[in-house]
Amino acid sequence: MSKDRVLGAILFIVVLSLLLPACSFGPTGFSGISDKNGETVPGQENTYKEAITQAETTACKANRVSLRSNVEMYAAEMGDYPTSLEKLVSEGYLDKIPTCLKSNKSGKPYTYDSQTAKISCPNGHPDLDS
Ligand SMILES: [Zn+2]
Repeated sequence: MSKDRVLGAILFIVVLSLLLPACSFGPTGFSGISDKNGETVPGQENTYKEAITQAETTACKANRVSLRSNVEMYAAEMGDYPTSLEKLVSEGYLDKIPTCLKSNKSGKPYTYDSQTAKISCPNGHPDLDS
């Protein structure tokens, strides 16, 4: 590589790095002007909220899958389902009972039926079996 080519490459990168931020600002500015409903920002917020909601639902399901497998493990060893989820902690199956991310505000724990081992979310997330 000649020195000129190296210089050219460096110059190219410098120009690119100057152009890229300008480009990313461009569409935002444009959509702000050309947006017909004036709802550009709320729209983006909705997408963000949907992603959060999706993540919460997935995490909640994973929590209950994990709880359920601990309940099954308990039942396999003890011969019956635990009478409460707290039993999983007191018997050393879990360090603590996970809660739904949405429960961080409400503080509500999962509801558990010791007859069927069904674990439900207090925040309305779909049941595992459904
Ligand atoms: Zn939940």
